[in-house]
Amino acid sequence: MAEKVHCSRCLREASAIENGIFYTPELEAEVREKVCLDCWNEWQRAEVMVINELKLNFMDPRAMPVLIAQMREFFALDGRPEGATPAAGLSALPPDVDLATPDSSDESE
Ligand SMILES: [Zn+2]
Repeated sequence: MAEKVHCSRCLREASAIENGIFYTPELEAEVREKVCLDCWNEWQRAEVMVINELKLNFMDPRAMPVLIAQMREFFALDGRPEGATPAAGLSALPPDVDLATPDSSDESE
């Protein structure tokens, strides 16, 4: 049966994803709920380019978070940078907050 989703990327009401390889169960649930089949198919192609361009090596545990971040951006899962449809959680933050939390290099154990 063809389910419909309201897609966070193309903003259409469109067919839901049927099959795919998702990286984590949490991501699968979120992507299935928010992304349409057409955009998913676009990601399948973009993913290959991202992996090649960033030279991601999945033997390296750091590669997966990078790919997931690219995917979240691709699907606008965290809202759009242009501010067209910011996610509710993000709009509460001051504009200059850096969500990436850079430079946590002094990790104490
Ligand atoms: Zn879409």
